[in-house]
Amino acid sequence: MTYLFPPSAPVSLPVVGSSGEFPVHRIYCVGRNYVEHAKEMGGTGREAPFFFLKPADAVLLAAPGQTVAMPYPTLTSNLHHEIELVVAIGKGGSHIKAADAPQHIFGYAVGLDMTRRDLQNDMKKQGRPWCIGKSFDHSAPIGPLTPATQVPNIARAEIFVQVNGQDRQRSNIDKLIWNVSETIEQLSAAWTLQPGDLIFTGTPEGVGAVVRGDTLVGGVQGLQTIQVLIA
Ligand code: MN
Repeated sequence: MTYLFPPSAPVSLPVVGSSGEFPVHRIYCVGRNYVEHAKEMGGTGREAPFFFLKPADAVLLAAPGQTVAMPYPTLTSNLHHEIELVVAIGKGGSHIKAADAPQHIFGYAVGLDMTRRDLQNDMKKQGRPWCIGKSFDHSAPIGPLTPATQVPNIARAEIFVQVNGQDRQRSNIDKLIWNVSETIEQLSAAWTLQPGDLIFTGTPEGVGAVVRGDTLVGGVQGLQTIQVLIA
């Protein structure tokens, strides 16, 4: 068997303290998973979790100590930042119970669920899929993975993003409506999770627009900080 053209190169993430790369399978995202963000999006603040996906090749690696350039995407005039804790699945499974979820987690990273908010809002109004608002090229800037064993206090870690040195979002992972284990339970009831899957766990309040020339610095206590220039 020969391919008609070269298959796409696998997407992978570096791992802190290891020369091995983490190959990315799928990118799942949780919507409205912090009460104050759900409210700013017009929700009640506490609803069952819902999910959407980004393609694996939407990953834009933000290497430690470097500023990665994210091209301002087409079709939008309202590009929003959403800082998120990203969970990396190391062991797959379906119908994983929350109590068993930790043994399926390889590690964590800092990610930005970049969003063409104007297009997402148009799609919402029309009851159409969010893909054009959420799943565009370079829409998932993400830092290197830190193995879970190195961040035992991740469930109570501070999360933040600054734009041009000013705080835009600052909260704590303990404010997740559905914590990481509960999210894995619900997600794995709908899809069979695979090693290599990433889960963007949702964003706290304070989402807002960025423009060309803005620099974002995003972090979660204990993980590698990321730095992204909107180009
Ligand atoms: Mn999000």
